Amino acid sequence: MLDYQDIKASFVQAGKDYFGRKPFRVCGSCSLCCKLLKVEALDKPAGEWCKHCVPGEGCGIYADRPEGCKFWMCEWLVNRDLRDEWFPAKSKIVIDRTMNEHGKRMIRFVVDPGYPNRWREEPWYHVIKSVAKNGMGIWQTVIEVGDRNWIVFPNKEVQVKPGPGMSVRVAEEAWEYIPCESQEHLMKLKEGMDQLAAWSNSLSDVERAIGLAELEAMKENAK
Ligand code: SF4
Ligand code: SF4
Repeated sequence: MLDYQDIKASFVQAGKDYFGRKPFRVCGSCSLCCKLLKVEALDKPAGEWCKHCVPGEGCGIYADRPEGCKFWMCEWLVNRDLRDEWFPAKSKIVIDRTMNEHGKRMIRFVVDPGYPNRWREEPWYHVIKSVAKNGMGIWQTVIEVGDRNWIVFPNKEVQVKPGPGMSVRVAEEAWEYIPCESQEHLMKLKEGMDQLAAWSNSLSDVERAIGLAELEAMKENAK
């Protein structure tokens, strides 16, 4: 039976990304991911040009680049739903489909800090909101501009600090983000939310309103 390493090797050999997708576009004059993204194998921090990058031309060590560079592709290369305006060299936004350290699916919109408000502009903003709306409960949609991060909800964007936290649906089309001090705190909050959800299912509208007041109190306690 193939293990993960075998699958990975076969994907790299076939020119596919982590998810087994083949690119249908080419990078051309773009090198933006080589600036915006962290490359652990090279000790390269996010937001600084890789020392091997020749901007506008490509990778100076292409054949020997780290496995992560061979294996990773931005969404613009592999996702046919994205139109040409998402070419990262033009949009100044690199889209990364990934998972966070807890295995939660994420779509990261990593924005060039030289264009910090680009994600709020059209024709990009409505697509980001649509990704967030389609992903509720499936993936988290995140904006990153340098060391500033936002979680995108259909109803709002919330700037967040690094650390645990939880997204909570507070109305039919409204979500809130509750930051937590620790993983333990987050687990308690999740347990509380599960109990609240089970309880809420059997409540009248008036009783449910009291439940929402309880949620507000939990948010206060989580600060
Ligand atoms: S951001 Fe995308 S298009 Fe630009 S260099 Fe990286 S992989 Fe290629
Ligand atoms: S090694 Fe090459 S592909 Fe990887 S970040 Fe540096 S320039 Fe980009």
